[in-house]
Amino acid sequence: MLPPIVQAGDPVLRRPAEAVAPERIATAAFRELIDQMVGAMRAAPGVGLAAPQIGVPLRVLVVEDTEERMAALSPEARASRGRRPVALKVIVNPELEVVGGVRATFFEGCLSVRGYVALVERAREVVVRGLDREGRPLAWQVEGWPARILQHEVDHLDGTLYVDRMHARSLCQEGELKRWSNRSPEDVFAELVGAATLRPR
Ligand code: ZN
Repeated sequence: MLPPIVQAGDPVLRRPAEAVAPERIATAAFRELIDQMVGAMRAAPGVGLAAPQIGVPLRVLVVEDTEERMAALSPEARASRGRRPVALKVIVNPELEVVGGVRATFFEGCLSVRGYVALVERAREVVVRGLDREGRPLAWQVEGWPARILQHEVDHLDGTLYVDRMHARSLCQEGELKRWSNRSPEDVFAELVGAATLRPR
């Protein structure tokens, strides 16, 4: 049985999660938690999940992206996002550091805010350090979409949701995303975010 993904409004999504004691990583209970997170992410389907999203207030995240999950994107949209397959990664007690000053703005959504997406500005490149599922030190420097996923998931561990960072006027019901998913963020800005400030002709 997979755990349900908790939705915005549940306070577990708004509290900072606790660090995992390293000696706990080898326990059967912790392995079960990882399996449940991976199962819930794949079933959703999603490209990342943080433990609070299944109601567990611990600093653990999982990331995985596949060709199948990016199939709707044009080659150009894929390239601009830096989206590419990522083999499953489990990161315990992640610490995130931004690399360089380049920012990128794209639509993102959240399995805990079902049905909506919005434009969110994130760092283009990050390095994450933590422990893997065996408790070994891990460091991963990455740019593009995986860097966005990491920032989104680490935010969850601090009680932050993308809606706290989004351009509020870009909020889209998921069914409307097909209008925008293969267009540039600049176009979306002009038509949604900046629409009220454009002078009528
Ligand atoms: Zn999320």
